[in-house]
Amino acid sequence: MQILGLILALITIGAVAGPVAGVVLVYQNNPVEMIVPSEIEDLIAGSFGADEPFELPQYVSSSFDHATQTLTAIFSFANPLELDLKVNSLSAEVECAIHAFKLGHAELVDPVPIDAGDTALIPVVFKWTQVAEDHFLTAHSGAASIDIELVNLGVDVSGITIETPESVSVNVPLPQ
Ligand SMILES: [Zn+2]
Repeated sequence: MQILGLILALITIGAVAGPVAGVVLVYQNNPVEMIVPSEIEDLIAGSFGADEPFELPQYVSSSFDHATQTLTAIFSFANPLELDLKVNSLSAEVECAIHAFKLGHAELVDPVPIDAGDTALIPVVFKWTQVAEDHFLTAHSGAASIDIELVNLGVDVSGITIETPESVSVNVPLPQ
């Protein structure tokens, strides 16, 4: 994990909710050959093709806790490597899907370890803000739910930074 932490790569992904179609990879630093096992080097350097083994976080489900006004969106993240990884952070901006109104910020609360070859569930938490409440009351009054978008998703996996311009849609039920 410390080894991977030395890698600083910026990976721009074409899609988050489906197979990755294309990837732009930018190394800010390239000590890769010296410190990365060959399978990871290959993974990072060349195998983000049509059948790449390294899938981006997949949206699984969400729940809204009315008592704490907290939305928790669950993503699954598979670790295809023979190394333990840790998801250090996962963050996104939260927008109203209809108005593209900025509602707040969602993020991972605690780092999530993913053992080699394993898949972990990663909870991303959005605390419903006063801004969000105000927007709902003025623009969505009476609605049973609100569609939100998680945009500008960013993931840090053991120092590998993944960012995507794509968004994830989540429907949040609201109390009547
Ligand atoms: Zn709205």
